[in-house]
Amino acid sequence: MPAASFLETPIEFLKGVGPQRGELLREELGIATFGDLLLYIPFRYVDRSRIYMVREANEELPHVQLRGVLSGIRTVGEKRGRRLVATFKDDTGSIELVWFKGIRWVQSALKEGQEYIVFGKVTAFRGKLNMAHPEVELAATWESGAALQPVYSTTEKAAAKGLNGRSIGKLTRALLEQPELLLPETLNKELVQWTGGMGRQEAFRQIHLPESAQALAAAQKRLKFEELFYLQLQLIMQKRLVQQEVKGHVFEAVGDLLNRFYKEHLPFEPTEAQKRVVREIRKDLGSGMQMNRLVQGDVGSGKTLVALLSMLIALDNGFQAALMAPTEILAQQHFNTLSTLLKDMPVEVRLLTGSTKTAERKSLLTALRTGHIGILVGTHALLEEAVQFEQLGLVVIDEQHRFGVAQRARLWRKNQVPPHVLVMTATPIPRTLAMTVYGDLDVSVIDELPPGRKPVKTVHRFDSSRNRMFAFLEQEIGKGRQVYVVYPLIEGSEKLDLKDVTDGFESISRRFPLPKYAVSIVHGRMPQEAKDYEMDRFKRGETDILVATTVIEVGVDVPNASVMVIENAERFGLSQLHQLRGRVGRGAEQSFCILMTGNELGNDARTRIATMVRTNDGFEIAETDLRLRGPGDLMGTQQSGLPKLYMADLVQDADLLQQARAAAKRLLDADPQLQDGANAPVSATLRTILAEKAVWGKIS
Ligand code: ADP
Ligand code: MG
Repeated sequence: MPAASFLETPIEFLKGVGPQRGELLREELGIATFGDLLLYIPFRYVDRSRIYMVREANEELPHVQLRGVLSGIRTVGEKRGRRLVATFKDDTGSIELVWFKGIRWVQSALKEGQEYIVFGKVTAFRGKLNMAHPEVELAATWESGAALQPVYSTTEKAAAKGLNGRSIGKLTRALLEQPELLLPETLNKELVQWTGGMGRQEAFRQIHLPESAQALAAAQKRLKFEELFYLQLQLIMQKRLVQQEVKGHVFEAVGDLLNRFYKEHLPFEPTEAQKRVVREIRKDLGSGMQMNRLVQGDVGSGKTLVALLSMLIALDNGFQAALMAPTEILAQQHFNTLSTLLKDMPVEVRLLTGSTKTAERKSLLTALRTGHIGILVGTHALLEEAVQFEQLGLVVIDEQHRFGVAQRARLWRKNQVPPHVLVMTATPIPRTLAMTVYGDLDVSVIDELPPGRKPVKTVHRFDSSRNRMFAFLEQEIGKGRQVYVVYPLIEGSEKLDLKDVTDGFESISRRFPLPKYAVSIVHGRMPQEAKDYEMDRFKRGETDILVATTVIEVGVDVPNASVMVIENAERFGLSQLHQLRGRVGRGAEQSFCILMTGNELGNDARTRIATMVRTNDGFEIAETDLRLRGPGDLMGTQQSGLPKLYMADLVQDADLLQQARAAAKRLLDADPQLQDGANAPVSATLRTILAEKAVWGKIS
């Protein structure tokens, strides 16, 4: 394709670039080819047709344009602080213009008493407004020109060497003027019409050289849609491929174990939501295709029971099941819960973690291979090569956000026919992200809490009212309740955190002394046995207060604990705060979450705390979190599985994402192999995308 190869032309061959600037573009801005430059999208636009009054100018505005007269041009300061200052005045007020560089040139070019148009960002310094390094033009010769001007980002180094936002814009224009630039259409006619009728080439022109705000909006919509459409098209195709090619074990039997457990051992009636999700899982398991299902359920919604019922279905069909948890504490707890629930049932449940002793591990692995173990609970240790099942039929992964996609795939290799996979997460993932990150998974939602739960009451307290908080704890402990006090853990400063939590433990121990009270501590640096010992004591009600780091974040279940105090709450992310709060409110008693902070809070921290105080709804919290942090951070960068998008934004363009997904589905339903002549642009584009991916797959 000539068009493709033109876009692959090295950037130095563009008029006005050459070897030196080429290197700068490549190294500083990642622009190596003509195509890269085309995709170097302006990060915003400024309206150069509008002239502001000085009175209107303030720090909140983006770059603004002012018209006024210069006076008082002077240099101030010494040596490195030396700068050129001028007063700029219109009928409504005055600001200062400042230059730190190129002083001599500016001095000779500007004249007092002349009328100028200046353009730049207004900032405040010591209560006075000023504009540093403005663009300056004589008002007499100024032309308003194109209304919307693109603003490109650059780096300090590139700008210092003459590649500022303006010169990047010039290069982009030079590229758009090349007659060889022919961008093939990537959408079919119907989709082009749907997005507003703008062709691809025209869309790129409008992005870099907008004729009007309307044309720009149309171009943005068209290109964002296209980007999201191909993202979804790939995800849906991949999922359909797996459904066609990967066979799954068929679990047909209704099942004695399941029936018996349900009738004789179930301690409570499942909620409607639990029943519905189990029905969905059951249907998957009988379908002949491999199940890949994500179960989302807020903390305390009863995911463990859903996991257990699903595993019993596997056992009833002659298969083994595994339950994998992200931490030892959690694995241990699942093991205890399952062992208790299955106490009088003929099911062998065993635990395997990193700290399982060698001798026990050996006998366990043999029992696993020979099929004597029905359910194996464990941590990452389950993924090791040595762990071989006789017939693994189902894997349940709890608290998925800590397991990467790659780890999920490793489980597949344990059998000829891959086991069914059930992923359970308490981190409510906003729908738009779930669609993108887990596009290959089916999603079930447990949207109901077991009956009788009272919502946790959440309050915000400042460190200064610590004594009142302690008095409240005293009162609750007096009623027989237990309390968590949690300290933040920040990666890379373990020592500091350890100090926080041990200091906290000491001061709480002083306030709640033996023998009347029992206080214990759990943190990540303690040996496993010590942690288990303390957790067990707390579970049995032998300690009143558990001082801990976030090791208790997920899954720990102590219904009698009814107060969660979170120290330095401003240092936690929203989803973490929500997880921690989920540790209480598990019994029939009214529970409390107390968020302790210092007096000085940043904007985001204030929003996080206010959100926690306002709502218990995990989905609402997740949406706020997404808005505050952006999708990459929310999912964790390394294993995010999030695509790199050049135009669209998964948060802001959520609606368009939905529409793109629906359009991709419709297209594939009508033309699964993309053979229809009308879809030729789509199949060609997809081939190019996949070919590029294959190349990158080989390189990385
Ligand atoms: P999570 O979804 O956070 O993993 P768990 O499975 O730990 O929740 O369940 C939380 C608590 O609710 C447990 O104590 C569990 O025994 C209890 N529970 C689960 N389902 C029900 C139900 N249908 N009715 C009453 N209690 C339930
Ligand atoms: Mg759980």
